[in-house]
Amino acid sequence: MDCVFICPSCGAKYPVSREVWRCECGNYLDLDYHPVPDRSKIDLSDRSFWRYSHVLPLNDLKNAISYGEGGTPLVDMEIKGVPFLGKMDFMLPSGSFKDRGASLMISKCKEMGIEEIVEDSSGNSACSVSAYCARGGIKANIYMPAGNSSAKSIQAASYGSEIHLIEGNRIDCANAALEAAKMSYYAAHAWNPFFIHGTKTIIYEIVEQLGWRAPDSIFIPVGSGSQIIGVYLGLVEMMEAGIIDKMTRLIAVQSNKCSPLKDFVEGRETPISARNPSIAEGIAIHRPVRLRQIIDVVQKTGGDFITVDDNEIIAAMKVSARQGVYIEPTSASAVAAVLKDKSTNAAKEVRVVSLTGTGLKSSYKF
Ligand SMILES: [Zn+2]
Repeated sequence: MDCVFICPSCGAKYPVSREVWRCECGNYLDLDYHPVPDRSKIDLSDRSFWRYSHVLPLNDLKNAISYGEGGTPLVDMEIKGVPFLGKMDFMLPSGSFKDRGASLMISKCKEMGIEEIVEDSSGNSACSVSAYCARGGIKANIYMPAGNSSAKSIQAASYGSEIHLIEGNRIDCANAALEAAKMSYYAAHAWNPFFIHGTKTIIYEIVEQLGWRAPDSIFIPVGSGSQIIGVYLGLVEMMEAGIIDKMTRLIAVQSNKCSPLKDFVEGRETPISARNPSIAEGIAIHRPVRLRQIIDVVQKTGGDFITVDDNEIIAAMKVSARQGVYIEPTSASAVAAVLKDKSTNAAKEVRVVSLTGTGLKSSYKF
């Protein structure tokens, strides 16, 4: 049976359909979907994240649009002598973790018979959604701010998407996309809960790679929050099923130039100047749609909000590259945050850093 949308603010429920992307009250929607993970149901012959399909909200696996994404390595790394495990999601097909969310979201579009979608994105989401639309035969209209990282806009266009470059900031861009969405499906990664259920597969992989144990902490760069919310969802599902026996601390990492999470927790308004591009462009989101949800999941895990500056990000890119790991500045922010976490001195801590995007489309000379 198909799952339904549910509004976490007012409790309204809606059937999953092409018209609905947010609640009538204006809030984002989640899925009323509570799968019970079972290790015996994992398809061990499938090395992609679709091995966990019994916890994914797709009715028929025949609709899965896939390149065999998932199964990314978990590799020993260190920064200034502090060890961590790097989860290499920048090795996914379009070069970022967004492929997990896009694969499920666009597969769901195919299952719903949708032939054209609208997405607004500054970069990696645009590339990822474009790739999956190309593979699934769905037309993608991508709205992005003019003047954004050109390698990403070239990549997204290369897949055959129609790129609409909008003058102004991300809010102007989102407004233009919303206008266009009146004519076709709004497959927005920040709003769409299917996207989040795709991103949760990263924590299933990590827990399996650690011998079915949860890490003590995971450091995640946070823009719209789809990954950190997905990780929380996956952890709760595994906790409730008795697969893991403790919760991982979620560490949300942002740039000090744009830190709406920390600002909200500490009772500050995020300044308008935070809309200016920072070196970590993927996490420069002035007002995330799911701001309160992100804060809620971090606090429920006893986690933390850490900000890092550009110099720390550049140093972390260099440290990573000198270990053979070429990541973009957004990902390096999470590496830099390892040194600022309160548990950094805990020698036995198993900490994972989500390496979200490749450096190949955001090369930076240091
Ligand atoms: Zn509502």
